[in-house]
Order: sequence, then C-alpha cells, then structure tokens
Amino acid sequence: MAVHLHEEDLPEGVLAPGAVAVDTETMGLITARDRLCLVQISDGQGDEHLVRFSPGSAFNAPNLKAVLADPARVKLFHYARFDLAAIRHYLGVDATPVFCTKIASKLVRTYTDRHGLKDLVSELLGKEISKQQQSSDWGGPVLSDAQLEYAASDVRHLHAMYDILVVRLAREHRTEIAQAAFDFLPTRAALDLVGWADKDIFSHE
Ligand code: MN
Repeated sequence: MAVHLHEEDLPEGVLAPGAVAVDTETMGLITARDRLCLVQISDGQGDEHLVRFSPGSAFNAPNLKAVLADPARVKLFHYARFDLAAIRHYLGVDATPVFCTKIASKLVRTYTDRHGLKDLVSELLGKEISKQQQSSDWGGPVLSDAQLEYAASDVRHLHAMYDILVVRLAREHRTEIAQAAFDFLPTRAALDLVGWADKDIFSHE
C-alpha cells in the first residue's frame, strides 16, 4: 500500500479494471475561481494515485481523462456534486457513471444528519480519518506529507463504503431512487457551473 504522486497526468496502466474512487482538492469552493490542484484516484487495491496540476497547467491529462470518462468504470465520490463540477470545468470531461457515498448515506442513514466523510468512515468501517488538512493550501510547489496522506485517505475507504452502502440501499428499497439521483449529478454540477449553485430549481420559490 503506497501513495504515488504524479505531475500533470496519471501514468498509463496503473489502475486495475473496475470502479475507481475519486476526489479532488482545489484552491477553494468556487469552482470557476478556485483552480483544481489535485485529483486523487484509487482502484481499491490499496494504492492511491495523486495527480498534481501546476498553477499554469493546461490540464492536458489524457490518461486521467480517459479513466474518468470511461463508461465501464463507476466513479465513487463522497459529495460528487463538487468534484464533478471541478472535473468538468478544468478537465472537460463528465466523470460518469457516478456513485456518491454522501447521497447514499443520506438515503439510508435517516437516523442521523451526520453525513461527512469522517462520520461515515467511522460508523461504517470503524476507522478514524483526520480532516485536519482539508482547508490547507493545495496550490504550492511542495505538498507536505500530512497533505499527501490526507488527500490519499479521502479515496482510501470509498470502495469499502460502497460495498456496504449498496447493501443498505437494497435493504431499504432505495437502490433505484439512488441511481436516479446519481444519474442527475452531472446536470446538478452543470447547473452549479452556470449560476444556479445556490438556487434550487425544483423549489416553489
Ligand atoms: Mn478531499
């Protein structure tokens, strides 16, 4: 098990076939303003690959884009809405099909309102992860060991949680509505990017 840091693209052939866990780190929460700094990706076999983009990056990352856009690979995210917008805006691809562990959690863990990654990993897997580096500077020339470990840990547990959440969704008869919600996520991200981030177009108001 190792964390691999790459510059500007993923090397070819480093991922096993199947679903991949994906996360992004950016300069902030406003996608068009706050550039994409890092994309983390894992095939669930124990290694995490971190792809770093420089401040002047042209985001030419053919290998990474091919994996993200591969219709044969389900992309596992926690809060896919944000990552899909960043990936679409900076890399120009829709990272579909999608499974979002936060949405799945909201649909089955109706007994709590704690759906953060840390809470979910703790309850479902009995493991503790740190969110201490979440708000750190991802845009610098050197990422600290703590940042690399944090970034990797954000994709490390998504496969294990996916396995559990799939069973829980089936148990609660919410597989179909979850899938429909996941399928809508690229549109939700597109709405965010064109100015409807804070408005719910389904609401009466
Ligand atoms: Mn993250």
